[in-house]
Formats: sequence, C-alpha cells, structure tokens
Amino acid sequence: ERLAYSAINLKNYMIENKKGGILMQEVTLNQGIKMPQLGFGVFQVPDEKICRESVLMALETGYRLIDTAAAYFNEKAVGEAIKESGIPRNELFITTKLWVQDASYEKAKEALKVSLDKLNLDYLDLYLIHQPMGDYYGAYRAMEEAHDKGLVRAIGVCNFYPHILADFCETVRVMPAVNQVELHPFFQQENALALMKHYGVKPEAWGPFAEGKHGLFTHPVLTEIGKKYGKSAAQVALRWNLDRGVIVIPKSTHLERMKQNIDVFDFTLSAEDRSAIAALDRGRSDIVNHFDPQFVQALHQLKIHD
Ligand code: NAP
Repeated sequence: ERLAYSAINLKNYMIENKKGGILMQEVTLNQGIKMPQLGFGVFQVPDEKICRESVLMALETGYRLIDTAAAYFNEKAVGEAIKESGIPRNELFITTKLWVQDASYEKAKEALKVSLDKLNLDYLDLYLIHQPMGDYYGAYRAMEEAHDKGLVRAIGVCNFYPHILADFCETVRVMPAVNQVELHPFFQQENALALMKHYGVKPEAWGPFAEGKHGLFTHPVLTEIGKKYGKSAAQVALRWNLDRGVIVIPKSTHLERMKQNIDVFDFTLSAEDRSAIAALDRGRSDIVNHFDPQFVQALHQLKIHD
C-alpha cells in the first residue's frame, strides 16, 4: 500500500549536472508545488567557507533542494553558493526556518525579510516553523500572508508531534505543506505519518541517518540488505524513507558521501527488507526530547540576534 501511495504522488526526473544525468524523484505538495524528494541539509555547518563549498559541491553533484535555517547561522553562505553555482533560481528548491526567538506575528515578518536578505533571494520555496514553541500560531499567520504575497511558495512546520499537528491543522487557514520531523530506522513514527497523510501534509525526515547514532552506517541489518543491491547501509536507510513517501535531506560535508547519498533512485526494497527494518524501531528519539522542559527552555534561550 505504501509503494502504491508513493507511485501516485511521485515521478522520476533527470537532473543534468556536470557529469551527466542524475535520477531524482519529486513529490507534489498540497498546493501543487513540486519538491525534490531528496535534498541536502546544512545543520551543524556553521563555518562559512565549509558551508559555501559543501553547498556548491552538492549543487554540482545534482542536489537541487537545500535545507537551511536561521538558527544554523549559515544562510549567507548558502546564498553565496547558490549565486556562484549559476543554476537558474527556478530549478532550485530552497528551504529555511523561522527560529523560536522570532515566533510571533510581528517578529516573523521581520525574520523572513532577514532570511531572504541573507540568502540573497526574492522568494523562498519553503518556509518552516522550526519548533512548536513561542507564539507559533501568530508567526504562522505572518507566514500565510507571505504565502499570499508570493514571498514563500509553500509554508510548513517542523517537530510537530501528532497531537500538536492535529490541533494546528484544525486551526490554520493555509494547511502546512510539510512537517519536518525526525524519521529514520530507529525512530519510524508510522502513527505520525498516518496523521500527516490524513491532512495532506508531506513528511520530511531530518536526521535520516539518526545523525550516525546506533552505528547506522555499519548496522548489520542495513548492511546485509544493502549487499543485495550493491548499496551501503546509508543508502538503504534513505531508500527505506523514500519508499514510504518521505522527503529526505541527508547532510554531509564530504563529496564522496554526497554522491553516495543521492545515488538511491535505481533500486527499491522488498517487503522482506521492510519488515527487517521495521524491527529496528525503538519508538523514541535518542537525539532530542521535546517533552523535557529543560530542552524547551534551552531552545528559548538560544538567541540568534539581539
Ligand atoms: P544526518 O543527515 O542524519 O547525519 C549527518 C551525519 O552523517 C554527519 O555526521 C555526516 O558526516 C554523516 N554522513 C552523511 N552521509 C554519510 C555516509 N554516506 N556515510 C557515512 N557518514 C555519513 O543528520 P542531520 O544533519 O541532523 O539531519 C539532516 C538535515 O536535517 C540537517 O542537515 C538539517 O538540514 C535538517 N535538520 C532539521 C532539524 C529540525 O529540527 N527541523 C533537526 C536536525 C536536522 P559528514 O558531514 O562528516 O560527512
């Protein structure tokens, strides 16, 4: 059923990069906008030079979706790489996120201007609320207005656990296009995916490699599956999310890994593979704890500007 769901919503296309064609798949968001199903994340790449070079390498490798955030402190470097790449703007899909500090109606309007300015862009493809914290309903009203004006082609949210997403979708005027949450073989969140499907919200995986936790890159189950297809454990982890309709944004600052991580559109997993991976689910995050008051306080305390 999951594969059928993917087949209806996805279509393959080729990106011409310097070395020839790269196979890519795209999803259609709730308002008809197309988004690549695989992109490039730049969390924890605050160094401007490394970020600029990594994004440039990723674009040359064939990535077209770049996922940054105001709180990653690298929007300027991402913007420079975009400009240097020379790739036409309409072939790119650029996402950034509104930080907790700016979660109110007035502050969100200003924050979007600052992000566009740093990225050196006229519009965003996707603008996300980074955390369900602060006055995120007020912030989202500003994002809806920006969407009406064409400053952002799509708007969405991150880290909205099912009870938060349900309340949000029952309240807002413009349904979120995407909910970016932690999704990998050790935290599969099938219930969250079912709710997103109900509301027509596309799931996007952050930490698709569990940020390397639980030995993902050498995990015996993923490695064994990969051997059948001539793929690595990392590639199996990505393919598994793609097969269940999830958008993935793996991060790497290494060219060989960037190439490996995008080379996942020429195989698919069997039902047997999927049930072996289903057994890896631990049912919780080992990276963040949104239910811990100290974690919430720490995010409020992270200031990205005066
Ligand atoms: P991730 O993509 O799960 O893992 C990144 C780690 O895996 C890096 O240490 C990277 O190392 C390594 N790696 C990448 N490809 C590899 C390969 N083929 N073989 C071996 N190691 C490999 O973690 P993430 O960066 O946290 O998540 C991805 C993106 O999601 C972020 O960059 C960000 O855009 C987004 N995100 C969003 C949120 C949110 O709250 N909305 C939270 C976290 C992340 P090297 O870089 O050294 O190669």
